[in-house]
Amino acid sequence: MSFLILSIFISISSFVIDLQKDNTPPWARLEEKIRKENDSRANFTWDQYAKLLTVLSDKKFIVLPINEMRNRFDSSAVVVGMRHDIDVHPFKALEMADMEKKFGIRATYYVLPTAEYYGTIVNSCIERNPEMGALYLELYKKGVEIGIHNDLITMMIQYNCDPLTVNREELDYFQYLGIPIYGTASHGSELTKSLGIANFMIFSDFAISDTLSHNGHIYRIGQYSLKQYGYKYEAYHIKYNKYLSEAGGAWKDPKGFDGILEQLRSSKPGDRIEILTHPDWWGKKAETK
Ligand SMILES: [Zn+2]
Repeated sequence: MSFLILSIFISISSFVIDLQKDNTPPWARLEEKIRKENDSRANFTWDQYAKLLTVLSDKKFIVLPINEMRNRFDSSAVVVGMRHDIDVHPFKALEMADMEKKFGIRATYYVLPTAEYYGTIVNSCIERNPEMGALYLELYKKGVEIGIHNDLITMMIQYNCDPLTVNREELDYFQYLGIPIYGTASHGSELTKSLGIANFMIFSDFAISDTLSHNGHIYRIGQYSLKQYGYKYEAYHIKYNKYLSEAGGAWKDPKGFDGILEQLRSSKPGDRIEILTHPDWWGKKAETK
């Protein structure tokens, strides 16, 4: 453990030095790779995001990160929790947080331990991309909440990880970075979707059975509670009466993005809204004619 902490310390120290040398962020090489693979998949423009933030700037809204929103009840306002699941593109998350900062809006960004940017899983243990610690800190310094995008059932089945142990290591890592973690949001992995379950069923609070069978193996789920895992909340299980989200590059509203804006404009004091977006799908380049 102490060796791990020492290595993290040395890595972080060297990033600071790197940043001082030539202003290139330590994650530049990884960013180039991930942008090459994913930038073309973006489906929404930053102008559209500015439009969403403009609507949310109306004085009837109180917009908060999820951990603050879940405890804020105000019948004279529309209370909104802003949630971003970072499935593939933390560099877009930095851009998104910069925009939000300009509007005075804060959100929660959930980091995914099974993502390419996060690291590699070797022998049931995550080898983190060391340069990403500096990025999580950079994001956190913008005033956002950081949470964990839970993929524990996938990790247990695909990578033979003990969910309680790997999760503990994640929380230790963020504690070492000085980033407080309050909550988690379930990731819809291909595996959990194919099994018709959700990653939050790892927690006893939400498990619908004690075991899960896959390819002839039996896995235990629901053994420990959200609290025993070290979390105060699960983002799907907080109090809201409207849930607006985009996934796979499409808003879940028959009228698309316009329909979402309409729902926000017509919302009434006392409404509680969770908005989920994925930074991965934003920042589409404007088409040149
Ligand atoms: Zn996800």
